[in-house]
Amino acid sequence: MRVFKFGGASVKDAESVRNVKKVLETTGYEELVVVVSAMGKMTNALEKVVHYYFYNKEEVQNAIDEVVLFHRTILLDLFLEKVHPIFDKVASLFKEMKRFLESNKSPDYSYVYDQIVCYGELISTKIISAYLNNEQIANTWIDSRECIKTDSSYRDANVDWDLTNLRIKTIIKRKGLTVTQGFLGANYNNFTTTLGREGSDYTAAIYAYCLNAESVTIWKDVPGVLNADPREFKKTILLEQISYREAIEMAFYGASVIHPKTLQPLQRKEIPLYVKSFLSPLNSGTSVAKGKDLEPEVSCYVVKKNQVLLSLSSLDFSFMVEDNIGEVFKLLHLYKMKVNLIQNSAISFSVVADNQYNQLENLLSKLKPTFKVKYNENVTLYTIRHFKEKEITFFEKELDILIKQQSRDTMQFVVK
Ligand code: ADP
Ligand code: ASP
Ligand code: MG
Repeated sequence: MRVFKFGGASVKDAESVRNVKKVLETTGYEELVVVVSAMGKMTNALEKVVHYYFYNKEEVQNAIDEVVLFHRTILLDLFLEKVHPIFDKVASLFKEMKRFLESNKSPDYSYVYDQIVCYGELISTKIISAYLNNEQIANTWIDSRECIKTDSSYRDANVDWDLTNLRIKTIIKRKGLTVTQGFLGANYNNFTTTLGREGSDYTAAIYAYCLNAESVTIWKDVPGVLNADPREFKKTILLEQISYREAIEMAFYGASVIHPKTLQPLQRKEIPLYVKSFLSPLNSGTSVAKGKDLEPEVSCYVVKKNQVLLSLSSLDFSFMVEDNIGEVFKLLHLYKMKVNLIQNSAISFSVVADNQYNQLENLLSKLKPTFKVKYNENVTLYTIRHFKEKEITFFEKELDILIKQQSRDTMQFVVK
C-alpha cells in the first residue's frame, strides 16, 4: 500500500485537479490512500471567516462568499451544472457551515476555528473524489474525522495513536483507491480538531504508519527537497537522498516543504518519504529514507521568518539557572510559542521563538514581574546545516546579526 498527499498548491484550480488525475494515471492507484489539503489558499480564506465572526460580524458574509465563489469557479470548470450531484453536495456543506455559525454559543476561538476551517478539506476532497469517479478512476471518499482521533487541543490536536490505529485499520480498505482529508481529526465527542497549519503531510504519515504502507509521496510545486527555499535563494540544488535525521533537523528549523511532525512516525517504521513534483511525476525527486545523510553533500539553508527574540535577565542580578529558566519554558509552552534557539549566560537568557498564535503580549505580562525583558519582533532565523567557512564570512558581512550560534554541523544566525 502507498499513501500520497496532494497539498494546496497541487489542487489550486481546475487545471491542477485534472493534473492530479494525470499523476494517478502515471503512478497507478491500486492500493492507494490519497490525502488532500484544502484548495489553494482556502485555509487562509476560512481563517478570515473565523476572524470576522469574532471581531467584525459585518464582514463574515463577504468572507464566506469569497470561499463559495472560489469553489464554484472550479466546479463549473470540472462538471456540468444541474447534472452532477457534486453541486448539491458542496452547497450542503456550506449550509452546514453557516448553520454552525448561526447556532454557535462557544466563545472559544480555537474550537470555532476547527469547526469552520475543516470545510476547506471536506469540500476539496468531495470535489476531487467526484471528479476522479467521473473520469472512471473509482474511489471511496472517507471522512478522516472517523479515522484520526485526537485530544481536544483545538488547532494543534494530539493524536490518540491506539484508537487511530484501530480506526484506520478497520475503516480503510487496502484494495482500491481511498480519498480523504489531510489536517483533520476529531476528539472523543466527535468535534472536529485540526493538527496544526500545514498538517496534511502529518496526516499522510499517520495513515502510512497505521497501514504499514510501503511509502509516502508528497506532491509539490518544486522538484523535491532543495538545499534552500527557492523563494528565498536564487540558486538551489535538489537533494536526492536525505536521512530521516537530516530531514527532521531541516523541517524543525523551518524548511516548510515538509511538516516537522511527519518524519517521526515514518522513521519508526522505516517507511520512505518521497517528495516529488506534481508536474513531472516520473522524475525521482527526493527520497527521505534510511541511508546516506545527504546526497549530494551540500550546505542546506533554512530561513524562518517572523520570529520573536526575547532577552531576559533577573531583576536582582541573581543567576539565570534551572528554576527561573524552567519557569520561562513553562510559559512558552503554555502560550504555544515554539522555541527555535536558546542562548544563556550567568545573568541573561535569550530565546528565539515562533509567535504563531499571537501570544507575545500575554507572555510578556507574565514575564515582566520576574524578569527584565527586552524583545525584538519580526526577526529572522537562518539555519545552515553542513556550513562552509566562506559562507559564514559572507553572512557575517552582509547581515545585521543579533545572535550567532554554532555547533559541529549547524550554524544559526538571528537577524534583524
Ligand atoms: P503544499 O502545496 O503541500 O502545501 P507548500 O507550499 O507547503 O506545499 O510547500 C512547498 C513550498 O515549500 C515550495 O513551493 C517552496 O517554496 C517551499 N520550500 C521551503 N523550503 C524548501 C526546500 N528546502 N526545498 C523545497 N521547497 C521548499
Ligand atoms: N489546509 C491546511 C493548511 O493550509 C493543511 C495543509 O495544507 O497541510 O494549513
Ligand atoms: Mg501547505
